[in-house]
Amino acid sequence: MAIAGQGGYCITCDRQTMHVDGSKVNHILHFLIGFLTCATWWIVWLVIVIAHTERMICSQCGTEYRHREAMALWQDRHGGGAQS
Ligand SMILES: [Zn+2]
Repeated sequence: MAIAGQGGYCITCDRQTMHVDGSKVNHILHFLIGFLTCATWWIVWLVIVIAHTERMICSQCGTEYRHREAMALWQDRHGGGAQS
């Protein structure tokens, strides 16, 4: 899933901010390391790619978006989660 940017509640900014994909997997670097390590690193690379899911960071402060914490704080700011 390639998401250029999406809104999210930033726990550091304490408001809705634009969040961008903060994952920076340097595929070229991993590819080159694979050559140096006789393809052993490519297995590690594969694990990194699989394990690495969406990691959204705040475009304002760079804080990683953590859904559970953001929701808890948002509900706290908006007087509980009565409305849905
Ligand atoms: Zn922020």
